[in-house]
This record gives sequence, C-alpha cells and structure tokens, in this order.
Amino acid sequence: MTTTRADQARPGSAPETLLDDELLGRLRGRAGGYDRDNAFPHEDLDELRDRGYLALFVPTEYGGAGLGLADVAALQSRLAEAAPATALAINMHLVWTGCAAVLRARGDDSLDRVLREAADGEVFAFGVSEPGNDLVLFDSVTSAESLPDGAYRLTGTKIFTSLSPVWTRLGVFGRDDGDPDAPMLVHGFVTRDQPGHESLGDWDTIGMRATQSHTTRLTGAEVPAERIVRVLPVGPSADPLVFGIFAVFETLIAAVYRGIARRAVALAVEAASTKTSRRSGGAVQALDPIVRWRVADAAIALDGLEPQVDTIARDVDTIVDHGADWFPRLVGLKTRATETARSVVEQAVTVVGGASYRSSSELGRLQRDVLAGRFHPSSTDSAHATVAARLLGPMP
Ligand SMILES: Cc1cc2nc3c(=O)[nH]c(=O)nc-3n(C[C@H](O)[C@H](O)[C@H](O)COP(=O)(O)OP(=O)(O)OC[C@H]3O[C@@H](n4cnc5c(N)ncnc54)[C@H](O)[C@@H]3O)c2cc1C
Repeated sequence: MTTTRADQARPGSAPETLLDDELLGRLRGRAGGYDRDNAFPHEDLDELRDRGYLALFVPTEYGGAGLGLADVAALQSRLAEAAPATALAINMHLVWTGCAAVLRARGDDSLDRVLREAADGEVFAFGVSEPGNDLVLFDSVTSAESLPDGAYRLTGTKIFTSLSPVWTRLGVFGRDDGDPDAPMLVHGFVTRDQPGHESLGDWDTIGMRATQSHTTRLTGAEVPAERIVRVLPVGPSADPLVFGIFAVFETLIAAVYRGIARRAVALAVEAASTKTSRRSGGAVQALDPIVRWRVADAAIALDGLEPQVDTIARDVDTIVDHGADWFPRLVGLKTRATETARSVVEQAVTVVGGASYRSSSELGRLQRDVLAGRFHPSSTDSAHATVAARLLGPMP
C-alpha cells in the first residue's frame, strides 16, 4: 500500500483505514463515467456512508468518528485525489457537520441536532448561494417571513446546491424584512420530506459534473422554530456560526483542490516516465531537462500548499485565537489553494500533452474540475478585498 504525505503526517490517524487504496481505486475507476454521464455518484456515496464517512465530525458518544478538521481535511484531499467531484459534493455535508463540531468544541451546542441527525444517516446540503448575491453570508435575496410560532417561511432561489439528488436536510438562510429598520438573516434547515422546495435538475457544467449542484427553488418552505439555528442582523457578523461555516468551508475547499494538485503531479510523473521522445532518440521524457523542470515546478508548488491546509486546520482544532486575522487567513488559504491547484494542473497538462485533451482523459477531467475553484466563495476579488480591509482599513 502506498502512503501519501498526509498519511505520513498523521501516523495512526484515520486516512489509511477509512480510505484504503482498494476503495480509492474503485472511486477513481467510476469518476470518469459519472463525469461523462453527468450523473450523481450514488455508488461512491453508498460505499463512503458504509465506512462512516458521513459521521467523520460526529462525536464518538453520538456514534461518529469524532475527528477534527485536520484529519477530515487529510481525508478529503485523499478522496479528491481519486474522485474530485465526489469529494466536493460531500464537502457540503462536512461543512455543516464540521461547523456543528467547531461550535461544540467552543461550548456552543446550538447545532448538536445536526450531529445527532448525521449520526442517524441524514445527508446535509448547503443551500446558501443565491443568484446575484455577492455578499454571500452577509445578506440574502431569499425572503424569510416570520410566522407566529417562531417558525419562518422561506421563498427564493438557491443556486449550485450540491448533493441535490440525495440531501435529506438543506441548510438555508433568508432575510426577514418584518422590521424595515432592522432586517435580519434567518438560518435554518429544510427537510426533504416537507413541501415548499423543488430542484430544477439543471446542472450541466464543464467540470465537477458529479456534484449535481442543481438550482433549488424555495416556494414557501416552512422551517419550524426547532430547526431555526440563528437570527442575525444583516451584514458581517462575529457570530460563531458564521466563523464555523467560514472556517470549515474554506479549509475543506482548499483540501479538495490540494487533492487535485497531488493527482496532477502523479499523472505528470507517470507520463514523463513512460512517454518517449523521438527528438531525444527514443528516450523517456523523464530525461528531458524541460520536462524535468516542469514536473519539479509543479511538485514545488504543491509542496508549499501541503502545510498551509494542515496548519489552518490544526489552528481551528486547537482553538487558536487569530482574532481579526482569521478571515484574511481563511480566504487567503482558499485563494492560494485553488490557484495553485490550477497552475499545477496546467504544468501537468503541458507534460502529458495532447492526450490530456481527450474527454476520456483523467487529467483532462482534472483540467475542467480545477476551474471550479475560482467560483467558490470567497472569490478571488472578494478575498483580496477582505485582506486589503484588514491591512488598509475599510473602504469609506
Ligand atoms: C462545483 C460547485 C459546487 C458548488 N456547490 C455549492 C453548494 O453546495 N452550495 C452553495 O451554496 N453554493 C455552492 N457553490 C456556489 C458557489 O459557491 C458560488 O456561489 C457560485 O459559483 C456562484 O458564484 P457567482 O457569484 O460568481 O455567480 P454569478 O455568476 O453571479 O451567478 C450564478 C448564476 O446566477 C445568475 N445570476 C447572477 N446574477 C443574477 C441576478 N441579479 N438575477 C438573476 N440571476 C442572476 C447567473 O446567470 C448564473 O446563472 C458551488 C459552486 C461550484 C462551482
């Protein structure tokens, strides 16, 4: 059995036993078909669920693995090496359960229900993104109408809902304008068996096709009081829920793209070691100085990324107080990870050559998948605005 750097970094931790090479081989073998057929990876999810993957963040006393963010990020990178879209889809479930675990570790049990339900097999999706809402978590174009008993009725459109075919709990938020002078953002969970939501089945993208992130219409979905987890003022918030979502989301997104970069380097090495060059008298390309430089350049970039994901994840686990630097660090990590993965894949494509342009090529698929990195929040522009605000103060 081969070991990755992530395994070596955490001897005795979960990656090897939870995601052994045989399972990863099966996932890798199916990834191309899901991509070609624009299909949800049901078989992957079934196998991962059987291994307890949906309960990675769930405390052991609730029946889960009780892992922290560093171990889950290591697993997600390993999973993404084999099946990036499967890893990205499952990320959304892990964001909610991870956020609940982050809150719990800080003495806040307001999302414990998420952990208990994940232990019971519920699948959580992330219904946050909305058309034309570049304020992401700080405002919403979905309406949240207050009902007499503490419940809310949500109406609006959520875009890019990964896990659409399988979620049983959808985390959503909307804006309550009941008091026009004090608009509020209402966060809660819709259940699949209730009325008031529909999936448009419209996911047809150039990459990350297996995430099946269809548009979701909320058509008056009523969220009972016990499923409302926060009511916060519109605008940036220091609420732990917002920190929890951000911290887990940005770190696990970075972990997925780290996995893609690792696989791209492996494919470049494989190609360089087997492809011969007529110009070099039939020698393998691994003896060509330019190819050697390209492979090394990709590996150097990846090597720099490895500890960045691990360090931020460990800081979340050990409750390091970065204060106002937390958000710049998190958006910086996500931006560097997705951009580095893109440039690593580019180098690998140059090494592998035209074969990677075939639609059936694994590297060709990675080339398409890696492009999705720039669209996840925080976008590159928004990340730069966050860091600039920290260094230069807010815009007037
Ligand atoms: C593979 C993948 C999976 C994702 N999974 C999730 C997920 O599970 N949950 C989640 O919450 N987010 C998810 N995201 C969403 C992501 O985080 C971004 O929100 C998304 O990429 C949209 O980014 P944008 O602001 O650039 O989109 P935009 O380009 O601004 O908008 C996207 C869509 O909205 C339409 N639109 C834009 N502005 C308007 C407007 N004013 N009025 C009407 N329509 C408009 C556009 O035509 C387009 O179809 C995922 C993204 C990717 C790439």
